[in-house]
Amino acid sequence: MSDVRNVIIVGSGPAGYTAALYTARASLKPLVFEGAVTAGGALMNTTDVENYPGFRDGIMGPDLMENMRAQAERFGAELVPDDVESVDLSGDIKTVTDSTGAVHRAKTVIVATGSQHRKLGLPREDELSGRGVSWCATCDGFFFRDQDIAVIGGGDTAMEEATFLSRFAKTVTVVHRRDALRASKAMQDRAFADEKIRFIWDSEVAEIHGETKLTGLTLRNVKTGETAELPVTGLFIAIGHDPRTELLKGQLDLDDEGYLKVHAPSTRTSVQGVFGAGDVVDHTYRQAITAAGTGCSAALDAERYLSALA
Ligand code: FAD
Repeated sequence: MSDVRNVIIVGSGPAGYTAALYTARASLKPLVFEGAVTAGGALMNTTDVENYPGFRDGIMGPDLMENMRAQAERFGAELVPDDVESVDLSGDIKTVTDSTGAVHRAKTVIVATGSQHRKLGLPREDELSGRGVSWCATCDGFFFRDQDIAVIGGGDTAMEEATFLSRFAKTVTVVHRRDALRASKAMQDRAFADEKIRFIWDSEVAEIHGETKLTGLTLRNVKTGETAELPVTGLFIAIGHDPRTELLKGQLDLDDEGYLKVHAPSTRTSVQGVFGAGDVVDHTYRQAITAAGTGCSAALDAERYLSALA
């Protein structure tokens, strides 16, 4: 079985590249599927990253990812800019099929496919990402000191983002499609008690404005159809995340929201020899450093599993 790899890694964000770095340095010669369109993961869509340790002056998201990629490659990781189309994880030897139909075999698989933040689906949303439009208050709140910010959504995440952002912002306007929040009572109470936060009910974003930076929104009342302008320089979209686990359905245990389940604190999944890392597992933290951290754990778990086989 000379064509059987030690490890295949699916995903190329901080989790995938960190797993690649560690397994490459352990001489396991990992094969990494980076994805056809979005190699480098979520940080390819942002500008300054100021909270990844080791970069005193911050670093641009794409530069950070290129550094991680080059570091993994330097130690022999084989990187393939292609999508994995299907997997069979059931046996001792796992198979991974790429977009050309080629089948790759390995003793272990590390799943690091990330999660996709839900978008509003409006023009300018992607162009202004990192230029006023954000999906992560922990990451970007600091950039919005004394500014007027809108938060879109009505769940726990939206309330958490709004109360976190009120530390920095001049004002925070929560825009919600309904006339009541879905967030837990405790989260609602905190948000309602915050003097900087106000609510616009029954409304959705109709348009996002700004050429090089966000300048404002047009809101539409979903009941009356009336529109109103909201001048803001920050827009935080908190309408949920979808973990990328389509490939894994029926093969690995997923939770009710579709996230990959692992036996924490390890990265072991419900199937022997398969490990999960990064945002595909993580409901809570969703940071580059936590993804990189679990990518490291997955590599070490895979390494130990392989040693036990030998
Ligand atoms: P991802 O980075 O999402 O990478 C997953 C990769 O897997 C993608 O490249 C995808 O294409 C690939 N993939 C998926 N399915 C397949 C498949 N079938 N075949 C092959 N490849 C596949 N965090 C911070 O700490 N600081 C910040 O400043 C910060 N800013 C952010 C700004 C934005 C706009 C966004 C969206 C996120 C930001 N984050 C930030 C969060 C951070 O980017 C994520 O927590 C982190 O990237 C998660 O890493 P990951 O490796 O789990 O997944």
